[in-house]
Parts: sequence; C-alpha cells; structure tokens
Amino acid sequence: MTGKISFAEQVNLNFDKAVRFTDHDPRLLDQIRVCNFVCRFAFPVQKDDGSIEVVEAWRAEHSNHKLPTKGGIRFALDVNEDEVVALASLMSYKCAVVNVPFGGAKGGVRIDRRQYSKRELERITRRFTYELSRKNFIGPGIDVPAPDFGTGMKEMSWMADTYQSLHNNDLNALAAVTGKPVELGGIRGRDEATGLGVFYGVREACNNAEDMKPLGLDTGIEGKTVVVQGFGNVGFHAARFFSEAGAKVIAIAEYDGAITNPQGLDIAEVDEHRKQTKSIVDAPDSKNLPSKEAAIEMDCDILVPAALENVITDDNVDRIKARIVAEAANGPITASANQHLFDRSVLVIPDVYLNAGGVTVSYFEWLKDLSHVRFGRLEKRFEEFAYRRLLKGVENVTERRFSEDMLRVLSEGAEERDLVRSGLDETMATAYQEIRNKKCQIGGKADLRTACFIVAIDKIVLCYGDMGIFP
Ligand code: NAD
Repeated sequence: MTGKISFAEQVNLNFDKAVRFTDHDPRLLDQIRVCNFVCRFAFPVQKDDGSIEVVEAWRAEHSNHKLPTKGGIRFALDVNEDEVVALASLMSYKCAVVNVPFGGAKGGVRIDRRQYSKRELERITRRFTYELSRKNFIGPGIDVPAPDFGTGMKEMSWMADTYQSLHNNDLNALAAVTGKPVELGGIRGRDEATGLGVFYGVREACNNAEDMKPLGLDTGIEGKTVVVQGFGNVGFHAARFFSEAGAKVIAIAEYDGAITNPQGLDIAEVDEHRKQTKSIVDAPDSKNLPSKEAAIEMDCDILVPAALENVITDDNVDRIKARIVAEAANGPITASANQHLFDRSVLVIPDVYLNAGGVTVSYFEWLKDLSHVRFGRLEKRFEEFAYRRLLKGVENVTERRFSEDMLRVLSEGAEERDLVRSGLDETMATAYQEIRNKKCQIGGKADLRTACFIVAIDKIVLCYGDMGIFP
C-alpha cells in the first residue's frame, strides 16, 4: 500500500478513467475489471542449516478471457496480495495492447533473495512450482509464469524442470514456463526483450516530430540524455540499447547508490564493475552521486524507472526534471503524480505498453515450445539461396561482380534472434501507432496511459462478445 491508495486501486483508477471514453455495457466492464482468481500459498522450506522456514507466496489470474494466462514471478520482501493482483491486471491490459493472446496473471514470493543461498532459492522455487501445479495454477494451456523482479533464467529453468517432472507425459510441458535458457526450450533474445522493447517504444515516440515539439526536443534518440533507475534485467538492457543508439546514459541508480558521467557512462564497463564488486558504486569513469534519489531528479531528456513501483510520488514529482518518463518498471508513477506530470506536459510512456517486450517475446518462446522447432530453422538456407539468385541476376544485368564477402553478407538469412527482434520491433511500433491514434482521437483530455486502457478494454470487450457471453 502507498499512502491512501493501493497499487491495485491505482490500476483500477486508470481503468475507470478510460471507461469514461467508452460506452460498453457496465456489467461487462465489471467483469473485465475484477481479478478472477487469487491463490495464497504458505509452504515450508528447509534452509541449509537444517532449520525450516515458512514462505508465503501468491499467484493471481486476473482475466481468463484468453488462455493461458501469463505473467512473471517476483521474489521480493514487500510482495503482497494487492501488488500481485495489480500486476496481474496490468498484464491483461498489456497483452491486449500488444496483441498477445493471453489473459493476465502474476506471482510473487515474499522473500529477500539476498538472504538465501543458491540451493535454498532452488528449493523455494521448486516447492512453489509444485504448489502451483497442485492447485492447477500452471500449465502450457492454463497459466504460464515468466521472470520478473528478483527472478531470471535460473529460476525459470528450475520451474520448467519441476513442472516437466510432474507432467512427464505432456509433450508440451516446457511451454508451461517462459524466460528459460535456450538449452531448456528458451528463445534467443528473451533475456534482453523487455529492455529492447523499452528502447523500441521510446524510439517510436522520439521519432514523432509532433510529439517532440511541445517538449522542446529534436526527433531521434541520438544525443538525448538518459537516466536509468534499476540496473537489473530491464534497466541494464535498456541502458545498453540507448547507449548503442547514440544516447548518453548520464546516470544510473541502484538500491545502494547512484553514479553519473555527463558525457555518458560506458554501460559494459559499469556492468563488468558490478559483476566484480556486486555494486555499481565507484564504477570506472563515473562519479558517485550523493544519493540514489539524486539520479532520478537530474535534468535529462528521458528518465527510465526500471526498478519497482511507486518511485515518482507526490513527494518528489515537483523535482522530476525529465521531459519524457519511460515506465520500464510496472507502476513507477502513482496516479496523482501522473496527473502532475500530465499538467506539466511531461510525456509519460506508460508501463502497460512500454514494458510489454517481455511478454511479447515470451509469446514467441511459447509458440516455439509448442511447435518444437527453432525459429528460422526451416527458412534460413532457403532465404540465402533466394537472395544469392537475386544478386546473381543483378550481376548479370549490371555486368558487375560482387566479392564473395559481399555476397555472403548480402545474402545472409535470418537467425532466431534476428526474427525475434524483428517481431518485437513490429509489435512495439504497431502498438505505439495504435495508442497514439487513440490519444489523438480523444484530444487533450487523455494521456497515452488512458489511450492504452481504452484500446485494451475495447479488445477484451470484443473477445467477450465473440464468446457470446455478453451481447
Ligand atoms: P531485476 O530484479 O532484474 O532488477 C531490478 C533492479 O532494481 C535490481 O538490480 C535492484 O537492485 C534494483 N533496485 C531495487 N530497488 C531499487 C531502488 N530503490 N533504487 C534503484 N534500484 C533498485 O528486475 P527486472 O526484471 O529488471 O524488473 C524491473 C521492473 O521491470 C519490475 O517492475 C518488473 O515488474 C518490470 N518488468 C520486468 C520484466 C522482465 O521481463 N523481467 C517484464 C516486464 C516488466
């Protein structure tokens, strides 16, 4: 809970705001808004010293209008039912915005992962998966978990392995979890997907001259100054892609401190330093900032909160100087702080669209696991031969010869990672145009977040209509 309004209430406030721009049946809207299922677990885990600890966990399935439901598993000490429900409902709207055919879900385990050994984390993850399976809250056609705050590939491989051993006659068992290592049915490009999606989404906005003009910014990413809060999976990859595209990442904040370099931090160096020292503080070619809060209040073009919810609140919103706030994390701006930013004409690119890269590539991974074939395996060589034939035709017409090196580069067929990036780029670009058009259609009263919710609600309503449940 934050102040008087809980996270789930904040999501519902956004829903209610959007509903005012629609004329759907209120009974149907009630059905869409409400969380369909929540399961609370409490299970024992043996620690390395032999003692037993009871761990609390939740899984919420917000909407079953499409199956399976889909959403990450979070390991954090402040996980609670309200947060899990809020994140599950955001997932339903997010999937609809980017046309991914899943309902929304979310899971959370209330632990501080830093307090546990690797073996203890494995026992917790496997036991949670076992409990999810017992309650029918996991399965390739039921509910498919993925990584989120505090979890990554390792946890997903334990989950997939546990599920597979419990369902060893299910040919599609590996499709019950996404975000797995490639060797265990994962897909190339899933680890970077959310950060890359954040980059693609911001790039779409920045390429729009009409949207940049009121912010006093030129189009394009190159030369823009960026501050990133949270240097985990999402924040690291987002920082990397911004930097590769010519933006200057001038500050990064982590839970234990923040660093800056007005000329732009070297993301690979900061990552290497963090791997060696377990902290970004004192990274080469950087200065430490007095506090982690100082970073997000810096003057910059793009602020990327990529840690947790409730980072920009009534307490600090007046000190936020960024022209664009790109919500890589879920729920980093409270509803009332969001209104302040809107009144000040700050462009907020909302979580419900911007961090959908993860679930989009999870969808590709799920499809790969169901089809049991790597993307590109069938067509790569075919494409290469076709391009070569085309290039030979060009040689014949122009009577000029390509070198073998040039032929090889020009005729290269797509690898799995290329196809994943292309699919993600297409998804983020198409969805951005859709939500931007909706915002323009409504006019000055709506921001991009409201436009996202309207687009999502319209699509879910259509889905219920097709089922014949509501006329
Ligand atoms: P992560 O655990 O990999 O990284 C989070 C990072 O934030 C960690 O390095 C942590 O130390 C840091 N952090 C924690 N508290 C902080 C604070 N007060 N100030 C600065 N840094 C702090 O998690 P992630 O997967 O990168 O997820 C980050 C956010 O993105 C979450 O809101 C999550 O729900 C959202 N998200 C993640 C994915 C995904 O695919 N991983 C997909 C969609 C949305």
